[in-house]
Amino acid sequence: MMQWSKRTQSPWIQLAGHQGNVKLSEGGEVLKRFCEVENICLQALMSDALYQFVPQYFGHISQDGDRYIRLEDLLSGLKYPVIMDCKMGVRTYQEDEIIKARSNVTMRTDMYHKMVKVDPAAPTEEEHALGGVTKLRYMQWRDDSSTTSTLGFRVEGIVMGNGKVLRDFYKTCTNAQVTETLLSFTKRQVPILKAYKSRLQALNETLKLSAFFSKHEIIGSSLLFVHDSNNKANIWMIDFGKTIPTPDNVHLKHDVPWVEGNREDGYLTGLISLISLLGEAIGQ
Ligand code: ATP
Ligand code: MG
Ligand code: MG
Repeated sequence: MMQWSKRTQSPWIQLAGHQGNVKLSEGGEVLKRFCEVENICLQALMSDALYQFVPQYFGHISQDGDRYIRLEDLLSGLKYPVIMDCKMGVRTYQEDEIIKARSNVTMRTDMYHKMVKVDPAAPTEEEHALGGVTKLRYMQWRDDSSTTSTLGFRVEGIVMGNGKVLRDFYKTCTNAQVTETLLSFTKRQVPILKAYKSRLQALNETLKLSAFFSKHEIIGSSLLFVHDSNNKANIWMIDFGKTIPTPDNVHLKHDVPWVEGNREDGYLTGLISLISLLGEAIGQ
């Protein structure tokens, strides 16, 4: 969705997610459709070491019968912002979602069509015959056919400075392809690549100090990369709708493989991959 931002005098763009879930308010705040799980996380993050990596949270409001979370606009003040949304972690669904999906054998034609559009050879013969796939199969295929399972993150979308939106990263699978994506996203500008790498290194250090990070399973959350024509570059943690506190007896490492039941999210796996791929892009 594209809106016109009064403050930046440039289009405001929602990159990922259901279009319309996130919008710009008249006063220049980002309003995101209310979700209790996310609201609780944002509240906790405002007094956590990660505070400097998260948009400021201003509480929530009701508007036209809907509730919204009020957030700082991360594009504010940027001229022709260039944006990339990287979904973090080695999986993008919660363990509970698998359990629910497993008991639901409904064949989804919509998901079958999405799958065929990306890779006509992906469905099995049986799935082709039925013209459908289960939600579980779709969710797992989505993670396994992208860099989510291998690198611990995937590029969800990019907006270039001219407003062109790129969402087709299904074929971005190898390290070399991701590095090339980082290079074209930054137009090969080394100072920007370096600024992004430093910011991620700082995030990596801060995560070690964060009480929030030590006690949460972070699923489906993104790092939002933003730079502009004045070479301002920054990265923010967004989207906590599937981030849940771990039970008292569970201590996640965030950088070990996930097997069902261990609840590991692979957040650090993705962060380390990104830091190393940015290093490759810079030639370090
Ligand atoms: P998903 O399908 O990924 O779960 P979602 O509905 O939870 O999506 P988000 O991922 O939080 O929504 O946000 C969607 C998009 O909106 C982001 O990719 C980004 O482009 C934009 N966005 C979200 N929060 C902000 C913010 N605080 N400032 C600027 N842009 C934002
Ligand atoms: Mg998102
Ligand atoms: Mg979300």
